[in-house]
Amino acid sequence: MSGLQRESRFERGDDVVVMKFGGTSVEDAAAIRRLISIVKSRLSSQAMVVVSALAGVTNQLLEAGQAAAAGHLGSALATVRNIYVRHEQLADELVDGAPHVALDRELRSEFQELESLLHGLEESRQLDLRAQDRLLGFGERLSSKLVTATLCEAQVRATHVDAQNCIVTDARHGQASPVWEATNQRLQDALSPLLESGNVPVVGGFISSTCDGVPTTLGRGGSDFSATIVGAALGASSVEIWTDVDGIMTADPKVCPEAQVIRQMSFDEAAELAHFGAKVLHPATLAPAMRENIPVYVLNSRRPEGEGTEIVARTRTSNAVSAITAKRKVAAVEIQSPQGVDAEVLSAVHAAFDQHACPVDIMAASLGRVWLLVGSTAPLPGIANDLQGVAEVRWENHKALVCIVGENIRRQPDVASRVFAAVSDMAVRVVCQGASDRTISFLVEESKVDESVRRLHGMFFPQAEPVRDWGGISSAFCQAGCADSSSSPPQGHGGAT
Ligand code: ASP
Ligand code: MG
Repeated sequence: MSGLQRESRFERGDDVVVMKFGGTSVEDAAAIRRLISIVKSRLSSQAMVVVSALAGVTNQLLEAGQAAAAGHLGSALATVRNIYVRHEQLADELVDGAPHVALDRELRSEFQELESLLHGLEESRQLDLRAQDRLLGFGERLSSKLVTATLCEAQVRATHVDAQNCIVTDARHGQASPVWEATNQRLQDALSPLLESGNVPVVGGFISSTCDGVPTTLGRGGSDFSATIVGAALGASSVEIWTDVDGIMTADPKVCPEAQVIRQMSFDEAAELAHFGAKVLHPATLAPAMRENIPVYVLNSRRPEGEGTEIVARTRTSNAVSAITAKRKVAAVEIQSPQGVDAEVLSAVHAAFDQHACPVDIMAASLGRVWLLVGSTAPLPGIANDLQGVAEVRWENHKALVCIVGENIRRQPDVASRVFAAVSDMAVRVVCQGASDRTISFLVEESKVDESVRRLHGMFFPQAEPVRDWGGISSAFCQAGCADSSSSPPQGHGGAT
């Protein structure tokens, strides 16, 4: 499928396509029927499916767990009862006969297990990350079984494969990382024979387990990551992320109605976008694809004929900038030390933030001080207190980081000056041209972030169409007003669902 020359350790000369369907792409019977026809359209390749929980289910499971741990077992059980009924109704609608009976039995036994887990949480009165992983995993266990049965009903030879037996991780519950060798081996052992015999394996995304079999998860939105983990293990020729938007956009269309789909972008650009706050893909997703040089496509399951966004190693685009994004709700922290910020001070600073489980981004450093960026909920007074005598800590809340991403920024030195010209009146702070030279970012007041993004978008993505005369209504207003709200993504530039 890919036109790229790849060198893969796993090259088998076969054309394996991994298709990942997010929550909204399996949310109801109509969505699952679309999934079936998309899978059928890929059967000339060796196709496999990675599926998220039905839209909303992961959050509902979390709510149920929190309710049970708070002693409200009745409400917890009612919540999972609703989840059960939703899956049952879909099974009734989509699957017939003996397969329906088998699916019914499976769903019922999953729910019995889920209910007893909730009883346990009520008794122990706590929901730690380990229990939470076990709980949230039910969403993908259920959806993957439902989708497998539905595909079989549609005459696709689909086989359910338990991701918790194949994706092996460390024990960092809530956000585990794969143990690559074991994972690759198990995935190849479980999936290759099925693919070679013309079966379509179906696995739940997001879920995994430690080498001792304790359930873990890859972090919220982790099904994208599952897809590239699987793709890399199989030396796939492409990974398709099926979602509910047309692809990755040049800006968040809620902020910027003129935002366009990016046809092609590089792995690095997409990774920078994910890092700088665009809810495009789970941030770890691109690493396995990059390592094995597997193109990743972001596609709309409601409009499968669209081209979507292609993410590859090297792009052909000559645009200076690919996208403009913003990370909101951040605080800028200034660390100053009378003796200068040397390695000793830095490591004390690091330790203090670590102690409070507070991830930081370094923005800029000069001899006497360092600027860090943290989430606005960071416990800064405690951290400042811990650092007393070592460094002075000051911070400003209600900031946002605006970031311009583009592979060609480094080749076009005028980009930075154009950025500053666009926002020259906006009290821009702490400007930073990324170490990669693929980004330029700066801090603004949170109240100015939308305006900054719109101005920059207007500058780097001038409308191709001449502005029409709408009888005095400004074109920007009209586009916002005319935008089809049903097609605007739930968040950010893409459809992480
Ligand atoms: N269902 C999980 C979540 O909502 C994983 C995913 O959708 O990728 O976070
Ligand atoms: Mg989800």
